[in-house]
Amino acid sequence: MTAPHLAITYGDVAAAHDRIREAAHRTPVLTSRTADALTGAQLFFKAENFQRMGAFKFRGAYNAISQFTAEQKRGGVLAFSSGNHAQAIALAARELSVAAVILMPQDAPQMKIDATRGYGAEVVLFDRYKEDREALATRLATERGMTLIPPYDHPHVMAGQGTAAKELIEDAGELDILVVCLGGGGLLSGCAVAARALNPNIAIYGVEPEAGNDGQQSFRSGSIVHIDTPCTIADGAQTQHLGNFTFPVIRSLVDDILTVTDDELVQTMKFFASRMKIVVEPTGCLAAAAVLQGKLDVKGKRVGVILSGGNVDLARFAKLTLGEAV
Ligand SMILES: *Cc1c(COP(=O)(O)O)cnc(C)c1O
Repeated sequence: MTAPHLAITYGDVAAAHDRIREAAHRTPVLTSRTADALTGAQLFFKAENFQRMGAFKFRGAYNAISQFTAEQKRGGVLAFSSGNHAQAIALAARELSVAAVILMPQDAPQMKIDATRGYGAEVVLFDRYKEDREALATRLATERGMTLIPPYDHPHVMAGQGTAAKELIEDAGELDILVVCLGGGGLLSGCAVAARALNPNIAIYGVEPEAGNDGQQSFRSGSIVHIDTPCTIADGAQTQHLGNFTFPVIRSLVDDILTVTDDELVQTMKFFASRMKIVVEPTGCLAAAAVLQGKLDVKGKRVGVILSGGNVDLARFAKLTLGEAV
């Protein structure tokens, strides 16, 4: 059997790294003796909660927009998202002097709408119960000559996200295991390509919410499984399916997909706040929760863990960590 053709290579991740270096932070790699003692491993946390706009998504967005042709730059970039991808596209577009339009549902949290506008993007609101988001996006893209950048299923986005694992391994040294948060698979596919190239024998795991384990089902069955929008506090991983570009990469380079519960995410948020003094959003805790809650045998290993983001508003953070109902 010949290997399937994968959407990106390590060369694409390295090229992305050269492109984003001028704009993205090289985020710190954090260690914790408490976390090491709890797990019996040596853990290296890649703190993308300290990335610009608060999540790794800036990497992919900047890598994608910086490869626009002159004509695409004149037309601008279009994205639909109410979460971190919207803010990443808005900020990257501003940095690259490209106009950005973000399609957001009318009922998106005002804070997210304001943050996206704050980065200079034009926000177009739509009624998600009446209007078809994709049709609206296609119409806007055609009418205004804009280029649509999806949140995960795009080779330039995937290569950009992979730079997080490249930096982690460069800074922490050789790893036995890499654990990555999983939504649509942009982060996991990019990181898997980087990690497999730099440390060929590394074991790579994706972690998704138990309530939305489409990635696990897809990985184990061999074809993309679609689910209804899952109910979980990990709002950045409420995706309904992996992508046509991300899935083949994950299937061929990743060792397994694990799941964690919302309660385990909350325990992990509390651990980061109280022991490591950092704010990590629920979705950003997925990979760490699997390691800290004993879902993976890590004893004696050098383990890289991606903390994917830190965008959670203070009221929600307080509610979640203080144990009140949300
Ligand atoms: C988008 C996002 C994810 C999931 O990333 P995918 O590339 O869709 O798998 C994980 N964590 C955070 C904080 C995110 O914003």
